[in-house]
Amino acid sequence: MEDNKEEIISKNFIEQEIDKDLSEGVYNHVQTRFPPEPNGYLHIGHAKSILLNYGLAKKYGGKFNLRFDDTNPTKEKTEFVESIIEDVKWLGAEFDDRLYFASNYFQEMYDCAVLLIKKGKAFVCDLTAEEIREYKGDFKTPGKESPYRDRSVEENLKMFEEMKDGKYKDGEKVLRAKIDMLSPNINMRDPVIYRVARMTHHNTGDAWCIYPMYDFAHPIEDAIEQITHSICTLEFEDHRPLYDWVVKECEFENPPRQIEFAKLYLTNVVTGKRYIKKLVEDNIVDGWEDPRLVSIAALRRRGYTPESLRMFVDLVGVSKANSSVDYAMLEYCIREDLKLKRPRMMAILDPIRLVIDNYPEDTTEYLDVANNLENPELGERKVPFGKELYIEREDFMEEPIKKYFRLFPGNEVRLMNAYFVTCTRCEKDENGNVTVVHCTYDPETKSGSGFEGRKVKGTIHWVAASTAQKAECRLYENIVDEEKGKLNEDGSLNLNPNSLIVLKNCYVEPSFDGARAYDSFQFVRNGFFCVDCKDSTPEHLVFNRIVSLKSSFKIGK
Ligand code: ATP
Ligand code: MG
Repeated sequence: MEDNKEEIISKNFIEQEIDKDLSEGVYNHVQTRFPPEPNGYLHIGHAKSILLNYGLAKKYGGKFNLRFDDTNPTKEKTEFVESIIEDVKWLGAEFDDRLYFASNYFQEMYDCAVLLIKKGKAFVCDLTAEEIREYKGDFKTPGKESPYRDRSVEENLKMFEEMKDGKYKDGEKVLRAKIDMLSPNINMRDPVIYRVARMTHHNTGDAWCIYPMYDFAHPIEDAIEQITHSICTLEFEDHRPLYDWVVKECEFENPPRQIEFAKLYLTNVVTGKRYIKKLVEDNIVDGWEDPRLVSIAALRRRGYTPESLRMFVDLVGVSKANSSVDYAMLEYCIREDLKLKRPRMMAILDPIRLVIDNYPEDTTEYLDVANNLENPELGERKVPFGKELYIEREDFMEEPIKKYFRLFPGNEVRLMNAYFVTCTRCEKDENGNVTVVHCTYDPETKSGSGFEGRKVKGTIHWVAASTAQKAECRLYENIVDEEKGKLNEDGSLNLNPNSLIVLKNCYVEPSFDGARAYDSFQFVRNGFFCVDCKDSTPEHLVFNRIVSLKSSFKIGK
């Protein structure tokens, strides 16, 4: 009994609705879909919708369809169709052979419109778009009936066919549902369901010069595919009565039902397709997959994994109220996913040379280093060590500030996985910049040798100079600064000038030989990094910083 109660509480409101439908026999199975319009790349918000729909189908032993809602040819492109298929597959939402196109249902939609005309539920209207808008009224003003509303069924049938046959110019006539111009819901005031538009369609070419409107097409697509639960975002809540009207009047058996949930918004990023498109078109970012964006392709390039996105979507949950999720939560998820899975390597982002004066010349020692201290299953590797190393510039200070425990003249530190060294002096160029740091090492202090002598307060990482590989590292910050406002007064995006920092002089250990696109690593002290899929080559490694190591973000309980 107690267990049972727990289970009910942990279900989200959509699952509760589905449970109810199944127990009342409204449906005997669950069938969901993800219906993108191929007019851009998918983003993190879509990932939520995909994983929600897929997850529900899976949970209830049902099926999940991928269906392109391609009823508006103006902005649709095959490039987008391909990227969307790739992204849905990458996220792990299996649709098997259930890949559908709304445009393949144009004939059925046409037939539905004819049925509505025959039932006296649709009419051809000659009002202009402007007039239709005026007649519609608003929240305060009731709508006014079109003078063409009472055309006979025969006349409507004839004219609708003529619309299809290309007898009318674009915009000259539309087909409207005949519902109720006095309805308090404006969507029910005789909505337009078909328009004349000569546009070449990416799938049907020039076969049609009339196209169905979204509110008419979408329920029919769902009904044809025998979707049970048509899950969409909140802005369609007011359209639900029209959705129900269409499936009822078109006489579909066992019609689908629409359930709305709140869109996912993230702080400090740009989610709207419209904004992303503008950043891409204005060449402010490196295409739809620029790692600063939150398109799925961009997140993948940045180094996010499908597992991390699934964890994120689960943590966010499903809600009926719009809100923004902290971007730090997404970062938390990728850290959690990678921390035990990926090796910890040494890489120097801002190098300065360290010379161990008492270490033998021309000697390379191979040290055993654990790949991941928290996960012994990842094994060990050999890391070369020698007289000359690269260390981070910030790990040396000629005149240390208070509580600085790293290298400064006279101080001893541990070189991670290697020896204790004591700093002796530094060399500088004519401008006073430090170029080389000198130190001596104590051969007795080799890491792993059982040495348990003196303690030191600082441990720094390093890369042996003679075997180091040069690399480029790209560090990212959020593309917009939420605290300063996402938008400028003129409506343009308030961009963060530091959103991309390119470090071209980094050094990494030779163990990166063979690193391939999308491979990710923890760089000790510097964060998680991923091999860039676009610009990295074996000769010139390019890494994207996925996320830094620390955050104040906590999953609170
Ligand atoms: P955008 O507003 O970003 O342009 P869209 O809603 O126009 O997105 P569609 O291709 O029409 O994009 O959406 C496909 C599906 O994804 C729809 O069911 C839509 O409700 C859902 N969706 C879109 N954005 C989000 C979001 N931010 N959070 C959750 N679901 C979303
Ligand atoms: Mg849309």
